[in-house]
Amino acid sequence: MNNEYFTIQQASEGIWGAISVPGSGSLGNAAIIDLGDLTVVVDTTNLPHSGILLRHTAEQLTNKPVKYVVNTHFHGDHVNGNQEFMKSEFISTVWTRDLLSDMGEVNIDLMQENIQKIITSLNHVRSKQIDPHMLTEIDYDLSVQRALYDAIPSLSRVIPTITFDDKLVIQGTKRTIEVLSYGGGHSLSDAVVYVPEEQTLIAGDLISTKTIPVIPYGNPYAWIRILKRIQKDLKVDTVIPGHGDVSNSDRITDVIHFLEKTITYVSGAVKSGKSESYWLEQGVLKGYEDWNLPQYFRWNFRWLFNSMLVQNNR
Ligand SMILES: [Zn+2]
Repeated sequence: MNNEYFTIQQASEGIWGAISVPGSGSLGNAAIIDLGDLTVVVDTTNLPHSGILLRHTAEQLTNKPVKYVVNTHFHGDHVNGNQEFMKSEFISTVWTRDLLSDMGEVNIDLMQENIQKIITSLNHVRSKQIDPHMLTEIDYDLSVQRALYDAIPSLSRVIPTITFDDKLVIQGTKRTIEVLSYGGGHSLSDAVVYVPEEQTLIAGDLISTKTIPVIPYGNPYAWIRILKRIQKDLKVDTVIPGHGDVSNSDRITDVIHFLEKTITYVSGAVKSGKSESYWLEQGVLKGYEDWNLPQYFRWNFRWLFNSMLVQNNR
């Protein structure tokens, strides 16, 4: 069941995580759920190539075609494999549907140009690194960006046709899933899939395992509120996160702490009066140096630092 793009980790009875192999290009995790009479896939990874393998794996594990695909949010590493599920129906929040639709057709030149800029900037950051963990992670990121660059000419956008605001229930013969949204935290609109019978949560990027969460263009304050609501409302034993290995509900607390500490750290940095470049040189927030995707901390810092500066100057 494993391949170059992802490893299959069984989360609970009838539920599997397709966990991205670092540097392979698939980048985002996906999940496969056997509802008995029908199969649901959650998210479709970063590449059409890994999307095809995800569909084949789902069909093999459940012996059925994939009836529904849920897109937890609009980020490419969760939707770029959509085009390989053309016999399935797509589900997302209204917001995510609108965001994907507003993006229009894939503009090959523009997307490749943007990726080229990311590659240039990663190479620049890489040239100043000596930390082996950071170097490995940047090399993973570079190979992900190159794989996406190559895939762009064959990429087509698939827009969900079934939408919901805060809750949609799909009942199968063996188990039921609840597709839920508490608004946006990581992105403008984030959905999760909850399987009550198995107390399993497929969390999209609201939860990660030992991986730096991506904050830019999201809302870290709303994100913390959403995670606290999940802890209060849902009984969760097992988590399939958007990035990193299948784990348990302790990962929800990890992300809350990360977000709280990052907000405190960056607001301290803003108050210090020292420059952004001074703070960027300090590296990753203490305690998170060994998490995956450490280069995202830099992006988080810059975005939050500048958002707070703008707010203070109002
Ligand atoms: Zn995301």
